Amino acid sequence: MIIVMKVGSPESEITRISEECKNLRLTPEKIVGASKVVIGLVGDTAAYSKEQIQEISPWIERVLRVEKPFKRASLEFRHGEPSAVVVQTPEGPVTFSQQDPVIIIAGPCSVENEEMIIQTALRVKAAGAKFLRGGAYKPRTSPYSFQGHGESALDLLAKAREASGLGIITEVMDTADLNKVAEVADVVQVGARNMQNFSLLKKVGALDKPVLLKRGMSATIDEWLMAAEYILAAGNPNVILCERGIRTFDRKYARNTLDLAVIPVLRSLTHLPITIDPSHGTGKSEYVPTMAMAAIAAGADSLMIEVHPNPAKALSDGPQSLTPERFERLMQELSVVGKAIGRWQQQPTMALA
Ligand code: PEP
Ligand code: MN
Repeated sequence: MIIVMKVGSPESEITRISEECKNLRLTPEKIVGASKVVIGLVGDTAAYSKEQIQEISPWIERVLRVEKPFKRASLEFRHGEPSAVVVQTPEGPVTFSQQDPVIIIAGPCSVENEEMIIQTALRVKAAGAKFLRGGAYKPRTSPYSFQGHGESALDLLAKAREASGLGIITEVMDTADLNKVAEVADVVQVGARNMQNFSLLKKVGALDKPVLLKRGMSATIDEWLMAAEYILAAGNPNVILCERGIRTFDRKYARNTLDLAVIPVLRSLTHLPITIDPSHGTGKSEYVPTMAMAAIAAGADSLMIEVHPNPAKALSDGPQSLTPERFERLMQELSVVGKAIGRWQQQPTMALA
């Protein structure tokens, strides 16, 4: 349920209404929008009529019901106001939101060694990326494939953060590693395979760190938003959704089908910001630039792109990784689309060839 307050409602009245709702055993959440304050209510709202809630205060303009199974993640819960996920990085806050410039996240699939991660960090930073990605714990289909260097890779990410000033995004696979990961990560990634690991979702929900929630490879949009709801319900409002391609019947040409239609669909359903990952989405480096351009044109708030100094030698996901040179060129191509839609503010720190 949503309580929409009248413009100019006194703060004391908003507090009083919230207290009354708590007495009704509902959980209120105050959301301050551009023009209005709304109070989102979760709990057994079905036990009360809209009229009963309306009667609490003459300052209430309207009471609405959220019919969707996801409540906090729904667009209605914020009365249509997009949320902004502000991430603290060594060089200041970076905002993921529909109203801000597109944010580029780039880096290797996995952290392989110190030289490669620092070199990649500096290259992607110079090209305009704001975040370095890189896996320390890798979810691999085969137990015989490279599993990531674990804790020592987290140390390398910390070094790369310091050397480059980039924010760090890295995946947590196991609740047991969460504290270690959160110490280094500015954004904690929950991967596609863990999208419905509900105990992990509850734990990242209790964290004071933004979460990048990847879409499960066979997850419906509703399932994905319900997974986001777990994190939001556990108290963490900073969730970024990441589309990374869904399982395809035609694997001959692409690893997954990158579902760019999620951008307009999610816009109609949720206030949460959207990242698109064209690297896992296609599985082939030659398709990544086209889909990255399309994602920005379609209104994505952020892109996550795999970049490796030597893709042919990568320990994971080499075929879908761009070289630093190709990434630099892509950033210039993206700037054309980004500027055309008024969402480009990447400032390369070095002149690009
Ligand atoms: C990754 O980002 O490296 C990764 C494993 O992605 P996904 O969970 O989308 O497969
Ligand atoms: Mn990968």
